[in-house]
Amino acid sequence: MVRIAHLSDLHFSKYSWDLAQLFSKRWIGNLNLLLGRGDQFLNERPFTLLETLKEMQVTHVIISGDLTTTSYKKEYLLAQAFVETLKKEGMQVFLIPGNHDHYTKKADRTKAFYHYFPSKYTHASGEIDQFSLSEHGVTTCPLTDGWRLVLLDTTVATPLTSSEGFFSPVVEKNLTHLLSLIDPEEKILLVNHFPFFQHDKPKRRLERGQALQTLIASHPNIHLYLHGHTHRRTIADLRPNGLPLILDSGSTGHQSGSWNLLQLQGNRLNLSVFQWKEKWNLIHHQPFQFDPKPWYAKGLRFKCTGCGKCCTGPGFVWLEEEDVKNLSHHLNLSEEAFFKKYTRQLGFDYSLKEDPQTTDCIFLKDKKFCEVYAARPKQCRTFPWWPDSIKTPAHWNETKSRCEGIDHEEAPLISFEEIKKNLH
Ligand code: SF4
Ligand code: SF4
Repeated sequence: MVRIAHLSDLHFSKYSWDLAQLFSKRWIGNLNLLLGRGDQFLNERPFTLLETLKEMQVTHVIISGDLTTTSYKKEYLLAQAFVETLKKEGMQVFLIPGNHDHYTKKADRTKAFYHYFPSKYTHASGEIDQFSLSEHGVTTCPLTDGWRLVLLDTTVATPLTSSEGFFSPVVEKNLTHLLSLIDPEEKILLVNHFPFFQHDKPKRRLERGQALQTLIASHPNIHLYLHGHTHRRTIADLRPNGLPLILDSGSTGHQSGSWNLLQLQGNRLNLSVFQWKEKWNLIHHQPFQFDPKPWYAKGLRFKCTGCGKCCTGPGFVWLEEEDVKNLSHHLNLSEEAFFKKYTRQLGFDYSLKEDPQTTDCIFLKDKKFCEVYAARPKQCRTFPWWPDSIKTPAHWNETKSRCEGIDHEEAPLISFEEIKKNLH
């Protein structure tokens, strides 16, 4: 079991008297502090959490942004001291920036947040570990019990009176790629500073939030979405609408601040909400259950009719080492001769050549027969059981429009276990 403390919007604050701030948005943040915000958010409040977190045996702390108020260096140092205090007690801390952490154009341009906090949490050991928050706007690491953490950075420097986020097309592309690398059976806890649904105050919304919502809806293994930004405690169970359970801890740094404790084990979540009133008090408790299996748990119908359609037209048949060995042996060729005659290189990878006239696979004969059927590559052997084809019912239907064997009247039911075995 992991015990996760979800904190947000700590808003450590320090006045800056630097005259250079007159040329940046920071002066408005300082004015706000002087006009009362400084009394609402207390620098010492987050530190009072330590004893409670230890008592609750918290193992992980997730902070969903806005550790600072104006991205001022002294605020970052306070935030860093707080995070170090947690780490000293053996807690793993995961952080993303909020709009206040990239408050000025300079803080955004220099990605100030990442001078103080990490941009990724795993050592580079495979493609999935290469994503970094500062470079790709997204990163990931495993949590426990089949759960994986995905962190998003959707902050941008905004004009004086706005505090919007932006789910840019580049971050969308990176998130889509990252999600495609995750086993659909792994449950995802996604963390972003902003809610993806429309905010009642348009100047505080996430631009292109609809695109993020659409992406989330097409990944049913995203079970939890944690965010901050609104300073309002929220528990929104949108699972009946095909979206995740959404939790906003409220602002933890506020004088009547709050935070959430998520006790996560397998398919169960026990949520506890704490609020400050002279001390941290438990104000709400709620258990949740998640579906243990993906949508195709009851199996899918498929029988290859041999129509040959999946081997026609332009596309790529990527080759693994084992495929090259099998095919060259089958064709009685050296690997070198096989590469030369039948493959094309794209970057570091190799794909089978296409027939220059028809653009069909080079081994397809008479539009129907695979000349190397017994030694065909893994990509061909495992179709249609590709993660991208079975990710959601919509993906499966799209694959069906290209393959007559799916839901064919003679197709048997392929069990969940069999599908898992074949997943390429
Ligand atoms: S399109 Fe489907 S049914 Fe046709 S050959 Fe390919 S896998 Fe078989
Ligand atoms: S190798 Fe055979 S099964 Fe694979 S795409 Fe080519 S013709 Fe089709």
